Amino acid sequence: MQFFVKHLYLLAPVLAIAALIGVYMLIKANDRPIPHYEPKEVEDTWSAEEYMRHLNLKPFNQREVHRLLLKRTRQKPGVYLESLLPAMDTAGIEIVHCFHVVLGDDYVPVITSGNDYPYHMPNSKHYKNAAMDFRINDVPMNKRRDIVEMIQDKLGERFRVLWEKGEMEHLHVEMTE
Ligand SMILES: [Zn+2]
Repeated sequence: MQFFVKHLYLLAPVLAIAALIGVYMLIKANDRPIPHYEPKEVEDTWSAEEYMRHLNLKPFNQREVHRLLLKRTRQKPGVYLESLLPAMDTAGIEIVHCFHVVLGDDYVPVITSGNDYPYHMPNSKHYKNAAMDFRINDVPMNKRRDIVEMIQDKLGERFRVLWEKGEMEHLHVEMTE
């Protein structure tokens, strides 16, 4: 008993420390743990079926664009388009689209010249696979201008669109560079 009385002065600091520890434990208890992120299991093995499907998904390359152009148009006999520049294939698809907007989806545009026909100007873009002619004289007169303007608008500055009038009326489209 004498011991306790003698060291009574220690009671205050001990209580203070105990209180501090208590507060600390309380804060700790309230500390929410950061939720642990569990990534969902990713299937990294393909089924045979998925693999086969992947093999059949060929990218839509420039060759396909060219084939699509040939499919969506008719070509006058003798028209040579096989070496057409890829940008011209893409432009051709846009041109077909313009014809369809004005004349309906059933209209099949006719390409009347590519890199062929000996009577273009000697330095013509036709001989550089950078020009194409489309038939336009079968389009109702009041719709020709709509088509020509829409095509020039769609193709932009990389292409020149010429509505050649006269006896051999046609639509000439060439790359400007
Ligand atoms: Zn031409």
